[in-house]
Amino acid sequence: MGDNIFVGIDIGGTTAKIGLVNDKGKILEKEVVHTLSSRDWREIIDEFLKPVDKWFGKNVKFKGIGIGAPGFINKKSGILFNCENIPGLINAPFVDYIKDRYKLPVMADNDATCAAIGEHIFGAGKDFTDFLMVTVGTGIGGGLILNDKVYRGMDGYAGELGHIIVVAEGRECTCGNKGCIEPYASATSIVKRIRDGIKKGYIKSYNDVDSKSIDAKLVFEKAIAGDLHSIDAIESAARYLGRLLGGIVNLLNLQAIIIGGGIAASGDYYIEKIKFYCSQVAWYSFTKDLKIVPAKLLNDAGIIGAASLILEEEKEKNILKRSVL
Ligand SMILES: [Zn+2]
Repeated sequence: MGDNIFVGIDIGGTTAKIGLVNDKGKILEKEVVHTLSSRDWREIIDEFLKPVDKWFGKNVKFKGIGIGAPGFINKKSGILFNCENIPGLINAPFVDYIKDRYKLPVMADNDATCAAIGEHIFGAGKDFTDFLMVTVGTGIGGGLILNDKVYRGMDGYAGELGHIIVVAEGRECTCGNKGCIEPYASATSIVKRIRDGIKKGYIKSYNDVDSKSIDAKLVFEKAIAGDLHSIDAIESAARYLGRLLGGIVNLLNLQAIIIGGGIAASGDYYIEKIKFYCSQVAWYSFTKDLKIVPAKLLNDAGIIGAASLILEEEKEKNILKRSVL
């Protein structure tokens, strides 16, 4: 293996994916470990580091470790907060802990920001200098690349898209507010709309499936096959998100919007609806050249995105070095 190898750790609520990634964005090794529900953050982190310890012991030389996690991560301290899925990691100094262990650069950031950096370096964002990455899955996340660089804002929290209010006093959100985009447009919300209809008795087109197996992928399949209730559930989600994105396009005059997360795999059907509703509210001058495209990194986006944090940092340092010289 060459010298330009990075570790990417993609932390999720139930599992974490850990991989070795080279500077071409290729995954060389990959392992999945469970996210412990322990209250002690060291135990949770030690579990994630088992594969890293193994690679380190085999003398694999990596340049740094990037970590993507759901929640807000302070860009100076690396401290995570507002992470409902893994409360044990809130306020834990795990970045310093990992740095001490391997004596290597370690960076952590929000998972959607990691996805934006990953797409910028290796995926659908390679040719764009100004884009918004939107991840649509259990929740809705966002990451911004502006002027060819990741935009983090004052403390590192920028891009938080999922909790923008789209309906005053609207549906309850997991964050405690009412009317955020998440309960209107996440994959979870699409499935919930179908389940609610089945419970009330007016949706019968899912009678042939076990209710546990209803997921967003199935709703998309049924919609594409012409099921009116499934079309309605997706249309409603796309209308809320597309219009919100239209407002953001007006604010930032973006070159592109990249749609990632589980929903990206559904392809043109969804993207076309997002385009339609975005164009409905944004100025024509802002949308006529705007590209709305699916993410490219899909399944491995989390690991590659996390590893890209270190690559991006190196790139920044080299640019700085060059400009000083
Ligand atoms: Zn919310």
